[in-house]
Amino acid sequence: MIQIKRRKTHPVQAGKLTIGGSAPLSVQSMCATRTSDIEATLKQIRLLEKHGADLIRIAVDSRKDVAALKEIRRETDAALVVDLQESYRLARDIAPLVQKLRYNPGHLHHHKKETPVFEKVKYIVEAAGEHNCAIRIGVNFGSLDPGLKEKNSSALSAALNSALQHVEYMQKLNFKNFLVSLKSSDPLAVVEINRKFAESAPNVPLHLGVTEAGMLPQGEIKTRLAFEKLLAAGIGDTLRVSLTLPFSEKYREIEIGRKIIEDVYSGRFLSVPAETLKGLNIISCPSCSRVENEAFIELAEQVREMSRFAASEDITIAVMGCRVNGPGETDSADLGLWCAPSHVNLKRGSQLVGKFSYNEILTRVRQELNDLITAKRNGKIGIAPDKV
Ligand code: SF4
Repeated sequence: MIQIKRRKTHPVQAGKLTIGGSAPLSVQSMCATRTSDIEATLKQIRLLEKHGADLIRIAVDSRKDVAALKEIRRETDAALVVDLQESYRLARDIAPLVQKLRYNPGHLHHHKKETPVFEKVKYIVEAAGEHNCAIRIGVNFGSLDPGLKEKNSSALSAALNSALQHVEYMQKLNFKNFLVSLKSSDPLAVVEINRKFAESAPNVPLHLGVTEAGMLPQGEIKTRLAFEKLLAAGIGDTLRVSLTLPFSEKYREIEIGRKIIEDVYSGRFLSVPAETLKGLNIISCPSCSRVENEAFIELAEQVREMSRFAASEDITIAVMGCRVNGPGETDSADLGLWCAPSHVNLKRGSQLVGKFSYNEILTRVRQELNDLITAKRNGKIGIAPDKV
């Protein structure tokens, strides 16, 4: 056993669950099923609950999803958190049904551009306050506030400043029942930004996560690399392991999360040196109710198999399940695939190469990968198609 002194954070109340303060670390996961498919979502909630999920996230994007959430709420007492993404205006309808709301500062810029972001946050805070909901400010490197992205020299400083700006909004609105998450697909960036945030806002509880960590075993390896360092430093009040898994195996996120906590608190550190993660990096989203074609999960696996020949190449391939985060979160990958219902969009950096059917895509990715490797070897490292 090792002595870990956790940061003293303010307690956040999400129904019966306390996060931060002196509460034990909690573990979360997310439903990958369509929220409007009530039966499948309830089955997923029960599966996650059975494996010890303290909090279960659901995506709500429409009034139809809100209606489904009402039915779901009638059938389960599980602590639920809704991911608002771009639908902050649904906060008032959702808040009476859940224990926590999550919003992403980067997503508050897309709709109603004439409304200041602070007013949108105020709307969410009022809805949460009226119904005793907690709030998570969920900052993600792949979907940053465009203004801050322009003003800051790195994604890390833009993400940090975005989080601190929203903490200030909470203080201005006198809302205390909130916590923050700062996620990236790069585990070392997750460590750095959480350490920096913990120094700047010592009392604010942190939800830890390495986003789009991908498939097993790499997904667990990347997550451990970040979580072991942060947990051992006493940073983190709740966590989620984000893995690309078949829907029926989502509970493994909970099992792995608990195991990492147990290992760290027993002094067992299993993470590999960061250098061993060099070479081909495949990031893939953990999937949620927004997945547009379930074939995405199999595709991520096929991309991994197909690209094994390039294991030593310093190339990142991103595979995303939907149009909400797919287009933005593939921008910084060398090759990005984001999945639509009947086709897959293939990108090189931020540029679209084309749309391909699920049958064609793998051959096309292989071709792009070969071209990219050849270009790198010829010293044409820039990935923009016009430069290669
Ligand atoms: S990329 Fe889309 S499908 Fe994947 S987890 Fe994010 S929102 Fe869900």
